[in-house]
Amino acid sequence: MIRYCAVAVLGVLACALALAQAVVEPRHRLAPQAGAPPRLALTLDACGGGFDEALFDFLLRERIPATLFVTARWIRRHPAAVARIRAEPELFQVENHGAQHVPAVIGAGRSVYGLAGMADWAQLRAEVQGGAQAIIAAFGVAPRWYRGATAVYDRAALPFIEGLGYRVAGYTLNADAGATLPREAIAQRLRQASDGDVIIAHLNKPGSGTAAGLAAGLSALRQRGFVFVRLDQADLQPTPFDAHPRR
Ligand SMILES: [Zn+2]
Repeated sequence: MIRYCAVAVLGVLACALALAQAVVEPRHRLAPQAGAPPRLALTLDACGGGFDEALFDFLLRERIPATLFVTARWIRRHPAAVARIRAEPELFQVENHGAQHVPAVIGAGRSVYGLAGMADWAQLRAEVQGGAQAIIAAFGVAPRWYRGATAVYDRAALPFIEGLGYRVAGYTLNADAGATLPREAIAQRLRQASDGDVIIAHLNKPGSGTAAGLAAGLSALRQRGFVFVRLDQADLQPTPFDAHPRR
């Protein structure tokens, strides 16, 4: 009996550990709005790296609004880009992509897509709050949304981040796969957009196919009657997402 109980307890502990390490990729759509034209939200991550001026100039020229998720380290490297974004508050909403672009998976040896995770919960708090402080200092606005590096999270990290005062921003349409896709593949993905999609792409990879792909794909969507909104101009609703274990 004692041996059976010991095995049972170990089983429960193993389950609890597996559950604690389950990672999730939240999915959000724009809530439907009766009588409105089909709507899309463009979200662009600025993780680290460069500033894609070709993409920025296109959005400016076409007056396409976007929600920009920027890190503190990107802000530090790109004061000229920060000034250009600040000059267009009607077009660009700035939100929090963390301090150092570390994914919100907690524990030694954890990683997502090759990016090392967090040592502990204190590091996650510093990542979230450090990103927010950099945005307040650079843009003069307090972010309300958080998207962690890779947009993958430990399940337990979601309520933790919300407890710090932020809503976690998911997406439904991955347009550029981390700025790795050529122009035509991005345009093709965007052709599949439907009313309410939240699009993710990147603002930090000049020279990639992202600027040309978005220019082609977003223009075509506009011609089909889609309008673009920032996250603060729409309600978001969660859609079902899978929990799947990763390292
Ligand atoms: Zn990123």
